[in-house]
Amino acid sequence: MKIYNTLSRKVEDFIPIEPGKVKMYVCGPTPYDRSHIGHARTYIFFDFLRRFLEFKGYSVRYVVNLTDVDDKIIRRADQMGGWQVVGDVYSRYFFDVLGKLRVKPPLTYPRVSNHIQEIIQLVQTLLDRGYAYRLDDGIYFDVSRFSGYGKLSKVDLNSEKISRIEPNPNKRNPADFALWKFAKPGEPFWYAPFGKGRPGWHIECSAMSSRYLGEQFDIHGGGADLIFPHHENEIAQSEAAFGKEPWVKYWVHVAFLTIDKTKMSKSLGNIIGIDELLERFEPEVVRFYLLSAHYRTQLDFTWEKMEKAREQWAKIAKAAFSVARRLKENDFGTDSAVAELESAFSEMISHLENDLHTPKAYSAINKIADTVLSADLDRESTELASRILSDIDRIFAIIPRNLMNDREYSLVRLLLDVREYFRESGNYKMSDSIREGLREWGIDVQDAGKVSKVNLKFKK
Ligand code: AMP
Ligand code: ZN
Repeated sequence: MKIYNTLSRKVEDFIPIEPGKVKMYVCGPTPYDRSHIGHARTYIFFDFLRRFLEFKGYSVRYVVNLTDVDDKIIRRADQMGGWQVVGDVYSRYFFDVLGKLRVKPPLTYPRVSNHIQEIIQLVQTLLDRGYAYRLDDGIYFDVSRFSGYGKLSKVDLNSEKISRIEPNPNKRNPADFALWKFAKPGEPFWYAPFGKGRPGWHIECSAMSSRYLGEQFDIHGGGADLIFPHHENEIAQSEAAFGKEPWVKYWVHVAFLTIDKTKMSKSLGNIIGIDELLERFEPEVVRFYLLSAHYRTQLDFTWEKMEKAREQWAKIAKAAFSVARRLKENDFGTDSAVAELESAFSEMISHLENDLHTPKAYSAINKIADTVLSADLDRESTELASRILSDIDRIFAIIPRNLMNDREYSLVRLLLDVREYFRESGNYKMSDSIREGLREWGIDVQDAGKVSKVNLKFKK
């Protein structure tokens, strides 16, 4: 498998540090507001990456942190009754919508506020090793002491961008950043040997990743906005403190999701919450859409594109339903499609192995759906299609799970038998009314000769 590494700016062979095991850390949200569809893109992508690695047989140790000590959280604290409440409320919201989106929970969601001791220890190590120094408002990292500074982002240390970072005229270098901020009135603080205060922005990820994954690990991810300064600073702190290089083997970044070609922002009022999306679309459609663009290309969201994605997705869902029905009813035809199905599936896998090329993988999935829907599949091909579709679901989680459970299915079958009875006795008024009723439930009844077949129709 190959994956693009932001550190080398190249697509590289993926070889984890320990054979068969992958350790992956992704920067989590600052839970101060409802999660939006930009977050959904990033966390669905890493969930998909984790699922694909698991499909390939790796055991994946996956960690996503929660930045629950932060300026934005503190700003909302008074309004909501404390910074802990803000973090709690919006973390819960995050778990809830991610659960609905079928994102598998990571091993853990560590919070900054539960890892202050680890952070203090790390800051102390950096002070002891001469990488950090004290100013009047906090402890800072001295970037000139770390020769590799800039290797991830290739940032120009003399640029404008740098001078805007954590301005303090007494800093030794413009790019120096706070590891620890001394307590200010009204802000949460913790006692530390070097002075009471709270962590700076970057130190948490070095502390929490090493706590759960060790001092070196395979994949570190996040949205592309985090490359600089966040991830650059994480590397500096971690390699300086742990003395191991590289701290992280592969850096993976997801390009941004925009709305109508502009950035989502509060001032523009164009933020779409994940719950808003889920009100209108099935979770599988949301995943299908958000994974439809390659993760390194910007994805521009519009409601029309969502509708279009649902049409494409409906074909896959319909194929899954048709396979499930054939198996349930033991209704097989005579067409063999084993060769086509196998070749389309291995095509899909090889596109994914090539830097997770989802758009190309989607055309292979489309082929699989076309094959299922256009042929009268025999038993062997149906069973193969069923295995393939469930593998596709393991990787992408895009096949609707509850097409129908057994009880619902039995009930629908019963209604179809009743309808059949009316049809045979010429009571078309009743049989049509049952058909209409089922249609409202999203079930499309097609009369094929004497037997009525059901097909799910995916409309809301
Ligand atoms: P935040 O809560 O803003 O710190 O973001 C949490 C994660 O979501 C980070 O990895 C961000 O890079 C990512 N993220 C935020 N906004 C977007 C967006 N519009 N598109 C993709 N990822 C995003
Ligand atoms: Zn981070």
